[in-house]
Amino acid sequence: MKTYDVIISGAGPVGLFLACELALAACSVLILEQAAEPQTPFKLLPFGVRGLSAPSIEALDRRGLLDALDIHKRMKNLFAAGSPRQAGHFAGLGFRHDEIDETQWKYRLPGSPPTHLISEMAELETVLTARALALGVEIRRGVAVTGVAQDADGVRVNGTIPGRWLVGCDGARSVVRKAAGFGFAGTEPEFTGYTIKADIADGAKLRPGRTVTSAGMYFQTQADHILIQDFDGGAFHGAKQPVTLEHAQAVLRRISGTDVQIAALHLATTWTDRAYQATSYREGRILLAGDAAHIHSPLGGQGLNLGLGDAMNLGWKLAATVHGTAPDNLLDSYAAERIPVGAKVLDWSRAQVAIMRPRPESRALYEIFRDLLKTKDGATYFAGRVWGIPAGDRPVAGLSVPNFEFADGTRVNHLMRGGRALLLDFDGDAALRTLAGSYGIKYVGGRPTETLGLTALLVRPDGVVAWAAHAVVDHTELKSELARWFVPHSAHNND
Ligand SMILES: Cc1cc2nc3c(=O)[nH]c(=O)nc-3n(C[C@H](O)[C@H](O)[C@H](O)COP(=O)(O)OP(=O)(O)OC[C@H]3O[C@@H](n4cnc5c(N)ncnc54)[C@H](O)[C@@H]3O)c2cc1C
Repeated sequence: MKTYDVIISGAGPVGLFLACELALAACSVLILEQAAEPQTPFKLLPFGVRGLSAPSIEALDRRGLLDALDIHKRMKNLFAAGSPRQAGHFAGLGFRHDEIDETQWKYRLPGSPPTHLISEMAELETVLTARALALGVEIRRGVAVTGVAQDADGVRVNGTIPGRWLVGCDGARSVVRKAAGFGFAGTEPEFTGYTIKADIADGAKLRPGRTVTSAGMYFQTQADHILIQDFDGGAFHGAKQPVTLEHAQAVLRRISGTDVQIAALHLATTWTDRAYQATSYREGRILLAGDAAHIHSPLGGQGLNLGLGDAMNLGWKLAATVHGTAPDNLLDSYAAERIPVGAKVLDWSRAQVAIMRPRPESRALYEIFRDLLKTKDGATYFAGRVWGIPAGDRPVAGLSVPNFEFADGTRVNHLMRGGRALLLDFDGDAALRTLAGSYGIKYVGGRPTETLGLTALLVRPDGVVAWAAHAVVDHTELKSELARWFVPHSAHNND
């Protein structure tokens, strides 16, 4: 039986995106997906609507996948109930485009892809599946991962399927996480969230958009699509009961403080604000990414973005490890970099819950946040956090590479389509071309239209700036940074 370089459990967006990254880097990849059919009504609009933020949009653009998604073009008027100038929210409190000071984001160049977009799970997964298949990924649907074993040389899934590495991208209830013994720690839920599609007999009794009430929150995105937050300690969701029309109506009435009537319930699902994170992202040859590694409430729409970020970070590191071209500890940098990012998102979701509780002290805080979000600094801070764009005077190393544009119109994002690292040399330093060649890195010489005061940058395959120079390049410094992330060509071994 064929031994795959990497087996991935779960063909959700994170498993698919990771598979694309690995296959782009010439790994053989098998995805096992428990669902026989890729689509469910919950992946279609309006249930399947997902907000994409800047790092995800950049990642998709860097792999040439952004243009394949056209849902945002069709979505313009779908959420007309909300303010057209609302750019995002924190705990349901909106911040507006015209309040955001984009000059704070000094590494975002004009002409960069958007800071936020609407996507649809079904479309995203369709696009990623097509790309994965085109790159040679094998996807077996209707096959659930039920057991995993590993030794020093590889993994064995379900007792029979061999691989060198296994990545659990199998969502919140990850079998891989449990079977491989990963720790999972966090905080218990405070509410049950409902997403329902229903005919409302007297919908005018509800307010359009998002309404926080003394009992919880409801959000009418369209006449027949409503989200509700009921602070029941997560009890209803935890009991795994089906949502009946009577129950949905009783909850909606209590939260909205109206006697609104649901005439027909078409579709309903529940979720909570349970916030848990794996205590490690790697146990030997088994890794976790996406919801398998972290769960939290969907408030502020960050889970998918967090998972796509995991995949972008892990893909090139795992591929280099598979090919024997990774420096020591490269794979461990995945958890070292991503666990703090995940922890921050969990705290962001907890902070929103804290000010939404139906309690006087939370209401008081809520009003203070409302005032803060109306200020320029407030809107800029919240937009930066929600969209994942760091502000202020920080070094470019560690951030996403600015989308520099060269004289012929080529952008850095376009140069990253092949998934290779880049050495950008704005001053034509011949030694940099030689160095790039010795590490198999793509050398890009030439001056962009805007340099942002930089002279050279080393960009990892995931688009993160590993090193940057503002003046004459210190070759010793660059060599040490190259050795941190890559192995020279002569040292490659492909065992
Ligand atoms: C109401 C709601 C709104 C949301 N809105 C946003 C938003 O606006 N922005 C955002 O960023 N995030 C949002 N999220 C979160 C986002 O949907 C998830 O974080 C994202 O889907 C995680 O992707 P994933 O691939 O890790 O997991 P999943 O999408 O859960 O995919 C996991 C896959 O693994 C498969 N699987 C499970 N078990 C097994 C097994 N044993 N063997 C094989 N396959 C298995 C599943 O069938 C599934 O296909 C929202 C979530 C909810 C509930």
